[in-house]
Formats: sequence, C-alpha cells, structure tokens
Amino acid sequence: MTRPAQGSDAEKVLKGIPISMGIGMGPVFPMPEAFPFDAPAYQVPPSAVPEELLRLGRAIAAAREELARIRQQAVAKVGEDDARIFLVHLQVLEDPALQQQVEKEIREVRVNAEAAVSTVIQRYSVAFSRLEDPLARDRAIDLKDVGRRILHNLTRQEAPESEAPSVRYILVTRELYPSDAAHLDSNRLAGIVTETGGKASHAAILARALGIPAVSGVREIRDLIARGGSMAVVDGREGTIVLNPAPETLERYRSRAALFDRMRVALASGPALPAITRDGTKVDILVNVENPGDVIPEDLGGIAGIGLYRTEFIFMGRNTFPSEDEQFDVYQMVLRRAGEREVVFRTIDIGGDKRLPYFRVLDEDNPALGWRGYRISDEWPDLFIVQVRALLRASVLGKVRIMLPMITTVEEVRRASALVRDVRLDLVRRGVKVPDKVPLGVMIEVPAAAISIDTLLREVDFASIGSNDLIQYLLAADRNNARVAALSQPLNPSVLRTVNMIIRAASSAGKPLSLCGEMAGSFYCTLALLGMGLRRFSMARHYVTGVGRLIRAVTVKEAEATARRALSFATTGEVKAFLQARTREIFRKMKVPIEEADEEF
Ligand code: PEP
Ligand code: MG
Repeated sequence: MTRPAQGSDAEKVLKGIPISMGIGMGPVFPMPEAFPFDAPAYQVPPSAVPEELLRLGRAIAAAREELARIRQQAVAKVGEDDARIFLVHLQVLEDPALQQQVEKEIREVRVNAEAAVSTVIQRYSVAFSRLEDPLARDRAIDLKDVGRRILHNLTRQEAPESEAPSVRYILVTRELYPSDAAHLDSNRLAGIVTETGGKASHAAILARALGIPAVSGVREIRDLIARGGSMAVVDGREGTIVLNPAPETLERYRSRAALFDRMRVALASGPALPAITRDGTKVDILVNVENPGDVIPEDLGGIAGIGLYRTEFIFMGRNTFPSEDEQFDVYQMVLRRAGEREVVFRTIDIGGDKRLPYFRVLDEDNPALGWRGYRISDEWPDLFIVQVRALLRASVLGKVRIMLPMITTVEEVRRASALVRDVRLDLVRRGVKVPDKVPLGVMIEVPAAAISIDTLLREVDFASIGSNDLIQYLLAADRNNARVAALSQPLNPSVLRTVNMIIRAASSAGKPLSLCGEMAGSFYCTLALLGMGLRRFSMARHYVTGVGRLIRAVTVKEAEATARRALSFATTGEVKAFLQARTREIFRKMKVPIEEADEEF
C-alpha cells in the first residue's frame, strides 16, 4: 500500500465553479501575472509633455492595429460571435473618457505615458472589481487587458511569450484575459484554472468554444500558482482540481477520461435520430443555443429545431442595448441557418446572476427572487417592444416562436400577449410584412406557474419546462450555490411529480410542451420523461446522441412502466439508483461503456 504523501506533495482537492466540461491532466503552468507589469514611471518636465502625449497616441494606434488583427484571427478560430469581445476591447481603447483621463494625468501630474496609463487603468479597474455585479468585474479584466496592450506598445515590449511546457499543461492564472484565451492553443492545453470570472465571462465562453476543461472561482489560486510544475487534474464537470494526485487518483481520472472518450465514440456508432421509439412514437429532439455561430446547418440533420434560443446573449459583451436592427440581423441569420426548422426565441432573460454592465439595477437581497426574466420586460416595455418588433419582422423568414421567461402569473401573460398583438398591428399598419400568427409561449420555471399550468396554458400556444430554475425554486436551493448543490437534483421526487403534472396538463390541453433545462439532456431522466409523456426534448447539442439512442431503444410502454416506478419512490437516492440501473442496462446492450463516464452527464 502506498503511504499518503505529507506536506506540500500531499494530494489536495480544490473546489471551484465548473465552467467548461471535460477532464484534463498535466503540470501546472502559472501564467505570468499580466497586469501591472514593470513599466517605467518617472516625472517629466513641462517641455516633455507634448512628446509623452505623442507617444501615447502612437501606442494607442499600434494597439488598435493589433486588436483588429487579433480579432480577425479569433474570428477564424472561434467564429464571429465568440470573438465579439475584441470589438469591446476596441471600444474601450477608443473610449474618449479613458484617453482624456490618461492625457490629464500626463499634463497635470507630469508623469510619463506609461505611468499615466498604469494609474488610470488601475484606478478604473479597482473601482470595477469592487462592484458586486460579476459582469462588471469581468469588465475590469477587459480594461486591464486593453491597458496592458497600450503599455506593451509604449515600452515596445513583446507581449509575454509563454514558456509553457511542451507537454499538455494546466494553465493557472488569477484572471484569464479574453485576448489570452483567444491565443490559447487547445492542443497544448489540458485545462484552465482561474480565481475570477464566472460562467458567463468571455474567457469562459472562449474556453468552452475551444473545448478546454476549465474551473474558475478557485480561492487557493496563489497556492496553485506557487506550485508551477506540480501535477494536477482539472475536472470541468465537477468543478474540482486535484493537486499532486496520488497514483491511484491519477489512474482513476485517466480511466474516467478514457471511458468518457470511449463512450462518446460508442454512442456515435449507432443512429440516434430520428428519435422514434421501438413501437413507432416520434419524439422531437431540439437544441439549445446561445450564439448564432452555434447554429450550423450541417449539424442540424434530424434535429427538429432550436427549442431554446437564449436571446440575452445578444445583449452581453457590449456597452449598450442592441438596436432593433442589430437584433433583427441576429434573428434573421439564425432563421436562415435553421431553414425549415422552428426556432423558439426566448425573450431577454436577465437579472438574477445574468447582468448587463450598461443596465444597472439596484442591489437586491434575493436577486433570484427579484427583478428578473419577464418581470424586467413587463416593467420596461421600451426594451421589450424593440425585441418583439425585431422578432416579428424576422418571423417572415422562418418558423419563429416567442417564449417568455420566468412567468409567474396569468396577468403577465395577458399583458405580454396584448403587447405582441399591438406591436404586430403597428408593423402591419406601417406596411411591414408579418405573419398572421406568431405562436407565443411561456417557460414554466416558477412553482406558481407549474401549479396553475392549466390556466396559463389557456392563454398561450405552447410551453416549455425550464427545469434549471424550476428545480431551484421548488427546492429553495440557489442553482449557483455550491453549498446546496446536493439538493438541486432533477431526480428529486418532488421535481419528478411536478414535471409529471405539467406534462399531463399540457397533454389534456392539447398544447405542445417541451423541456429545455439541463434535465432534458440527462440520460438518467430520459426514460422517465418519455414515460410521463414528454415528446419534445431541447438540450445542448452534446447530449443529442445519447438521448436519441435511449429513446430508440425502448417502447413507450416500457418507458411508461419506468416512469410509474420512478414516481413511486420517496427519496432521490432511490429514484437515482433505479433509473441508473435501468439506463445502464440499455446502454450495456448497445455496448456503450457508461458505468463511470455517465457521471459526466
Ligand atoms: C431553465 O431555467 O431551465 C432554463 C432553460 O433557462 P436558463 O437556464 O437560461 O435560466
Ligand atoms: Mg431559466
């Protein structure tokens, strides 16, 4: 038996927030601290002020050229949308207020340009990073990134070249700047660990687009930075880092990673779509989308449509609200790419943990129970009308559905419905072509909506269960709080009963119902949901193969028996044990090695 290692070589597990899925292992490589770096700072005589201003101007111009070039490279690598952050950087660079502050510092404090840039950027970013809003804190990162670029040009230093190891490594840094993330070579990176940056930070979005496992929110980052060269494992699904893994731990992760790969290959070895049960019942599989770049026509074969388009992402990564035309451009692009398939555009769902830096709301004690989702559109018709106009104008180009997030009462739906009707009439009066009917639906995410589902359904054309929020509200367990994560289980008996009740109500009302939360892509839930009568599943593209193959492996009768049994248990543990066994049995017959890797889902 191996003796446990002592002291700094001992295995240590660190917790963070999972931001990009997968398992990666390799030596820790601390990224050089990016800002501030050693820029010369000195006083200048009044006669040297014009020269310093000139140097500043030249450095800004050079930074502008660099950013435009990086943006082009990023577009080629990760697509227009995920590279949008560099437009934000260009805007920061061109911000007259920022430039004036730096110039003022040179003129009035009489310091060289480097010192002026450092001071102003630090001042701004400290102010930003003190804000509660995680998105504003992300803006501090963007600001420092731009500041660093100007400083490099002033000092004519090259951006720090990475002396990264030649093997695949784990990049560790307090903050990952978007421009660093765009430069990352996914072939050499096994994982990314950061102290700051939430799930919606641009660096996180880029890490996901590049398929690199990543964990953020790691408090002990300094410890980790001090351990350059030590072996580590990053589990981007669990949000954990294992430093100095013992040989057994490393072996366990290696086999999990290998099993995960084998499972992916095995799943892809048989047909998944169309998702028709063995006795001929057709189930629609739809996908959830955040960025128009993710709608790839070649990827949509057999997919019934986009069951959830999270439009709030159009509002992120910028400094102002997108105009009606800007929104229209995105909607029309998505519709063209989706072709004949329906696209469910969920209207802006901000508030809670999704904030916009340019739309300040007062701090709330309970943001998840506060001003979020449709409540904002309801109170701010100006915002909502622009979005509805853009959506209605685009709706002649494809099959548009409009869906309202976080609906709580029938009155809200009636107000939204009246507003959509008025906007449509106004467009028609102005001679704009709009279809006679654009279906309007609601997300069922609030327990009140679930309980009054029958009355809500009378007001709308369709509904979709947002299980992520429904679970957090049903179980009173914040979906972003790791402390209560164990409670947030889709297989909790109360969750299953509520979902079952909603499915039955939609079926009696004859209204289409989908489920678009993470639960729709969870293999353990597939058979139970199918057996309860769900016929529309909307999920991240990643899960389609597994869910499709499970549906094709059973008859509706078998799924119904599974659902009945699952609904009869009193505890989450019992439900999970039962559904796990049932699901594994089916996968085993398909020769899919699910045993450990299914925890990835
Ligand atoms: C949900 O709550 O299940 C959902 C799909 O919406 P979001 O995850 O964007 O809140
Ligand atoms: Mg939601």
